[in-house]
Amino acid sequence: MEEKENIIASQGTAAGGEETSRTGSVNAQPLAVEIQKDARIIPIEKLDISRLMQLDACTRCGECLNWCPVYDQDKREDIIPRTKVRDFYRIIKGQHGLLARILSKSGLNEKVKGLIRTVFRLPHVTDDMITSFVTNLYECSTCGQCQVVCPSNIDTVNIWENIREAIVSAGYGPLPQQTPLVKSVKAYDNPWQQPRQARSKWIRRAKKEGLLKEVPREAKKTHPKILLFLGCTAVYDVNVRQIAINTVNILESLGVDYGCLGDAEKCCASVMLRMGDPEFERVATQNIDQFNSLGIETLVTSCAGCYKTIKQDYPQVKKLEFEVLHTVELLKRLMDKGLLSFGHRIDKTVTYHDPCHLGRAAGVFDPPREILKSIPGIKLAEMERIYQYSRCCGAGGGVKAGFPDIQSKMAERRIREAEATGAQDLVSACPFCFAGLQVGIKAINSPLIMSDVTSLVAKAIFGVNAEETAANLKPE
Ligand code: SF4
Ligand code: SF4
Repeated sequence: MEEKENIIASQGTAAGGEETSRTGSVNAQPLAVEIQKDARIIPIEKLDISRLMQLDACTRCGECLNWCPVYDQDKREDIIPRTKVRDFYRIIKGQHGLLARILSKSGLNEKVKGLIRTVFRLPHVTDDMITSFVTNLYECSTCGQCQVVCPSNIDTVNIWENIREAIVSAGYGPLPQQTPLVKSVKAYDNPWQQPRQARSKWIRRAKKEGLLKEVPREAKKTHPKILLFLGCTAVYDVNVRQIAINTVNILESLGVDYGCLGDAEKCCASVMLRMGDPEFERVATQNIDQFNSLGIETLVTSCAGCYKTIKQDYPQVKKLEFEVLHTVELLKRLMDKGLLSFGHRIDKTVTYHDPCHLGRAAGVFDPPREILKSIPGIKLAEMERIYQYSRCCGAGGGVKAGFPDIQSKMAERRIREAEATGAQDLVSACPFCFAGLQVGIKAINSPLIMSDVTSLVAKAIFGVNAEETAANLKPE
């Protein structure tokens, strides 16, 4: 229970001591000092100082407000970067500033401390203040759009994730709705609360249904040059399993020397990193050790989230002894070498959604487009917001779990944009975006067909892809 006590009644607020007594004078106007329970200390030693210093560069220009896809659907100023920067500064000042440290060791009673805070406009960091900040901090898909448009080039996403880690270390965050994802990764090595031994179930089922041309080779036995990292979403979510199936079928048909880890594959732990869980490093280290021990030259994945995590975040933990490619990059290389060609036409207009973690985060914009455009019959119609300005579908960063209504609206907004192109298919290169955008398609009953680059490549190679074969299996 919080201890609250009004010292002097007032219409103002004492949060941070900034709304009341702006003159700094005790007599200027009635003071409002609420004694509330002090928040637990946010450990600043968890924060990267160089990033923290970037917060100083925020000019409060508001450009981030114009572009944030979450703010677009939830017009609360508290969730935009400039407000989060300001609020986090208040927390740091209120807990770690010189006066805050003097007060914490002063032995003064709470009433006197409250008056001093008000006079010196020192924020009183309470549980309520942090809880509110945490909710705002996690209402962010970590899409990176704010960094792209920020005139001060503040490294926002890494800062949000770094602050989340400090927040979690202090016992706040993630939000209750997001916690099961992280707990599941720790308990089952996947965020979907599925048993480890069910990881390869999709292979047996797809083989039985005639969707898989060959059972994926086992990397630990065949020692391939390429490890195909399938990722949790494509192997556990039956609605997107075609991404795993089509990828395997394509690699088999092209004679690529690849292998998979089967039940030994573990979650890349992206969800832990995005949620700020400090155990990310432990899981990442286990994965890196396993990958390095295989002696592979390349790790390939069809998931943009796994790709970003392994390629950009893992090297911060431990050295990788292999290169990391998204499947579209590998296919583009094979295409350039004349090893990938298409024997079947697909007469369709499609539009392409850049996954935030593949496009904005890693700069992989052109390979998927070039692959699509090289398929005979395909016409690529671009949406209004593409490349580094691509509008986030809202599935990442914990928004889908924590704020499903907001995610649905974000996906709907993107679907409307895709519909405006006149395309029949909305294509992406990530199982998580696939699932996130499907939410929008269903919500507005859109005629758009959700697809993945691998689906169209498989169809152009074989004349039929996994999802079409599966649909034909269904009873009338
Ligand atoms: S765009 Fe950058 S500088 Fe401008 S308010 Fe947002 S975070 Fe601050
Ligand atoms: S990362 Fe994306 S969702 Fe988060 S504040 Fe920036 S623009 Fe908004």
